[in-house]
Amino acid sequence: MGKGNRLEDFQNIMIPHNRPTLGIEEETASLRVLRKGWLSQGEEVEKFENEFCDYFGLPHGHAVALSSGTASLFLALKILNAENKKILFPSYVCSALRHAVSMANGKEELIDISKNSPNISMNDIEKNPHDISIIPHMYGFPIKFQNNSNLIIEDCCQALGAKINDNMVGLNGTVGIFSFYATKLMTSGGQGGMLISKNKEYADAARDYREFDLRNDNKKRFNFQMTDLQAAIGREQLKKLPIFLKKRNEIFNVYKRAGLDMLDVIDNDIEPVRYRAIIKTHNPLKIIKSLDSAGVKSIIPTEDWEILGPKSLFPNSFQLSKETVSIPLYPSLTNEEIDLILSTLIKK
Ligand SMILES: *Cc1c(COP(=O)(O)O)cnc(C)c1O
Repeated sequence: MGKGNRLEDFQNIMIPHNRPTLGIEEETASLRVLRKGWLSQGEEVEKFENEFCDYFGLPHGHAVALSSGTASLFLALKILNAENKKILFPSYVCSALRHAVSMANGKEELIDISKNSPNISMNDIEKNPHDISIIPHMYGFPIKFQNNSNLIIEDCCQALGAKINDNMVGLNGTVGIFSFYATKLMTSGGQGGMLISKNKEYADAARDYREFDLRNDNKKRFNFQMTDLQAAIGREQLKKLPIFLKKRNEIFNVYKRAGLDMLDVIDNDIEPVRYRAIIKTHNPLKIIKSLDSAGVKSIIPTEDWEILGPKSLFPNSFQLSKETVSIPLYPSLTNEEIDLILSTLIKK
């Protein structure tokens, strides 16, 4: 291969938009499980669930580990009897929500996000008649809402650890769901999810749905299990989560202090987690191109074609998709990489 074309050279100059942060601890934990020989759902999954409960101050038994965030959302809808019900969720969101609602035979009720925010507002949720709402805390910004005894699924896939009035998101709704996909705030080895509820009956119902094997009561169930190998990695990542979140916050603040116009929510009651570093700009492509020529990958965090509906109905969603660029933000980003990103952006 020609000079400058080897994989190592490529990796030296390329800063990916996102990457998981893994270390010797995850390797050791994986080896422990591999050598034990019990790979499928077992005691590691149970420990992971218990430690997740501890993180939220929940009694053990209130968290159910599952195969993905989407599976967790589907199960949340199932246990809330979403079939033929009106399910409210935003147009500005990943397609996983639409898939889960459609698999659960719910009726889609889309609403637009607020102006200059990636989130829907409590006001718009209440204005639109529905049976169940899915409230995603986008990009780590928690949405303040009152739990007025409606059925609410809090989608915390991008907001694990975020707080409202010192309360962790995921406990304000009826059910909270989380994703441990490779590029989320923590991973259980590429895929994984969790469902939590203060109400033990909901957690028990989700667990029952997951235990599909060797049952003969004709209830609908499915294999949404997490493996012990995944859970062992997830347990190590959960231990590191506070450090991950701190590091993400530091990098976000470095970007902000350098003068980048960052999408942010300033509110004394909320404590966001920095899942994404999003620059506000009228020319996203110019920024993406200039970063690309410096070997830095940036993206439009939600593109216009991803929006779940037409522009005429969801103007704020379309506007935000035209005015945002997401730049690298993850715990393993080095100071040199941050300097390179900033020097590319600031000289423009
Ligand atoms: C990632 C994500 C999901 C889906 O999670 P998977 O684990 O990828 O299935 C759902 N909702 C939101 C807001 C997400 O960011």
